[in-house]
Amino acid sequence: MKPLKKMLELSRQFRVDKGKGFRLKDFDPADTGGLKAGFKNEAQTLLQQGVEQLATLQDKLYAQDRWSLLLIFQAMDAAGKDGTIKHVMSGVNPQGVQVYSFKQPSSEELDHDYLWRCIRCLPERGRIGIFNRSYYEEALVVKVHSEAILATEKLPDELISKRIWKERYEDMSALELHLARNGTKVCKFFLHVSKEEQKRRFLARLEEPAKNWKFSPADVKERQCWDDYQDAYEEAIRATAKKHAPWYVVPADHKWFTRLVVSAAVIDVMLEMNLDYPKLAPGMRELLQRSKDELESEP
Ligand code: ATP
Ligand code: MG
Repeated sequence: MKPLKKMLELSRQFRVDKGKGFRLKDFDPADTGGLKAGFKNEAQTLLQQGVEQLATLQDKLYAQDRWSLLLIFQAMDAAGKDGTIKHVMSGVNPQGVQVYSFKQPSSEELDHDYLWRCIRCLPERGRIGIFNRSYYEEALVVKVHSEAILATEKLPDELISKRIWKERYEDMSALELHLARNGTKVCKFFLHVSKEEQKRRFLARLEEPAKNWKFSPADVKERQCWDDYQDAYEEAIRATAKKHAPWYVVPADHKWFTRLVVSAAVIDVMLEMNLDYPKLAPGMRELLQRSKDELESEP
């Protein structure tokens, strides 16, 4: 099988585009899709090919200026969001990509509905937008710590009920359907790391001076809510995985495999767009030929 085809098929194992019945425990964070650890070097070559393929597709996306692509990354701390974004997007023209990280909302952001800050950052036509965290936090961290956080969101009391999470999933799905119907492909990644691997990575951040800056004591506190987060992810994915806005539940215990799957998934989604360079308008070919003749006949 050709390497690209193999990569695409591999990534489809982790695609969830019908949320009903989704169970996180059916997905193993240490999965390497049957590829052995010895495959790591080959994976590097494949990833490099993926990076080149992505660069070509992005060039067409930009030139065609019709579609846009929104890639959403969600994960527990240390699952590798930053590194994955860095490696997978390493070959693309920076002019065509916009990356936004969403942290705790500012007071200006809290003066608006929660989708507002994300909608302002949606990719223009021809561009790839990357959300490092997103409006999904509103049904993840906000749900896990609802008592502490919901009250800060300045919602009218009457609008806060037990139904709020279901309503949020509906609204996020509605936004994604609207985007799909208007030329923005939405693709969501949950980098699925195990609790043991997170501990190993935290310890590495504590032990290696060059990694100390990545560590925050708050991360260990969030880890105490691990099971609540896993439940929140499962419920969010179940409610919002759709054909027009799939989730990829990407095994994240082995970074080389995470990057391979994400790279293949992005290529797969872009191939669905049938991207190509714009066709020349009638008469343009003659004009181009005339310009060429002019240039060539310069003294
Ligand atoms: P890294 O730790 O790799 O730098 P990060 O994405 O974890 O990246 P942090 O600054 O550590 O960035 O954390 C951002 C925090 O903001 C996360 O804990 C996240 O849950 C929180 N956050 C994001 N969106 C919201 C939101 N809408 N409401 C409350 N908290 C949010
Ligand atoms: Mg963090």
